[in-house]
Amino acid sequence: MAAPKVAVVGAGVIGLSTALCIVETCPSCSVTVLSDQFSPNTTGDVAAGMLIPHMYPGTPIHMQKQWFKETFTYLFAISNSAEASEAGIHLVSGWQVFKSTPKEKLPFWADVVLGFRPMSEAELQKFPQHQFGQAFTTLKCDCPPYLLWLEKRLKATGVQMHTRKVADLWELHSEFDIVVNCAGIGAHQLVGDEKLFPVRGQVLKVHAPWVKNFIRDGDGLTYIYPGIHRVTLGGTREKENWSLSPDHGTTKDILDRCCTLEPSLQKAQDIKVKVGLRPSRHCVRLQREILSQGGVKLLVVHNYGHGAGGFSVHRGTAKEAARLVGECIAALRGSSSRAKL
Ligand code: FAD
Repeated sequence: MAAPKVAVVGAGVIGLSTALCIVETCPSCSVTVLSDQFSPNTTGDVAAGMLIPHMYPGTPIHMQKQWFKETFTYLFAISNSAEASEAGIHLVSGWQVFKSTPKEKLPFWADVVLGFRPMSEAELQKFPQHQFGQAFTTLKCDCPPYLLWLEKRLKATGVQMHTRKVADLWELHSEFDIVVNCAGIGAHQLVGDEKLFPVRGQVLKVHAPWVKNFIRDGDGLTYIYPGIHRVTLGGTREKENWSLSPDHGTTKDILDRCCTLEPSLQKAQDIKVKVGLRPSRHCVRLQREILSQGGVKLLVVHNYGHGAGGFSVHRGTAKEAARLVGECIAALRGSSSRAKL
């Protein structure tokens, strides 16, 4: 059988990392990325890119932990290499603080991040409205650098990238053997997934280089995430809201909430407002599917629905998607050798 031709639909953090894992696990494949948008116009370009997992209620915890661990290990190695600044990957320490003590004091990812521990009384004095807190060091992916770094690695391995909107996966049937769907919220329309819904997030990217530690309110709504050049201030979580227009009142509210946690942010400058739609689902859709039309088959691997935690698990889910592509290739090889007999 000739080199299998694989199309990856989507050039967000999920599509690019999946394409890279496919090339790494199946170097004989010919991989093409097709996407209507590339960085800086993807959801990841809005995100803070912090590695703090979000919970997927429909996915077993051991699997979520494995995805997170694989992602953390991969990015930790990059952060510890000469590639770190170009890839936009860096370690960041800080605090997650709670107004009342949470039921679960030890999250499932506590032993994956570095130095996880309860905050001391002295540290808590910085947050007079909060009773309990956790201190740890994690990783942050700055975008667009990380997406551009992934694109550069893909191009170096010969992966083609084309700007193209795919209206129906079947339109790729004559050109490709396997289609990998990493369309994020676009999968709602592309494959008619009614279980997928947007959770709108508005954030501010500000200039405040003196802020070095992250601060996250345990409710997940208010956060301060310092990056290499800018600090991301958040946020909002608005279910089923498809609007990409910034809301002025929300900008003021985010700034007020963040200044309550970190008063020095009153002096933040050059405030840029960004809005993104988290591609949310009860669980990430990470599975093989064989589409069939009039006796013709199309092999598809889905990898979308990462909601509020795409950066935190992207490498783990990309590895699993690449394994599923490997299964599709084995099935294709099996059917082509049967056809020759
Ligand atoms: P996208 O980035 O949306 O990419 C989808 C791609 O598919 C795009 O390139 C699009 O153009 C393409 N596409 C769609 N439909 C089609 C089509 N029909 N034809 C061709 N191409 C198509 N996660 C974290 O882990 N940590 C964080 O700190 C964090 N903060 C966030 C803050 C905000 C405000 C938001 C909005 C999200 C945040 N997230 C965070 C979540 C994270 O950004 C997402 O989970 C992740 O970006 C999803 O990546 P994706 O590649 O699936 O989607």
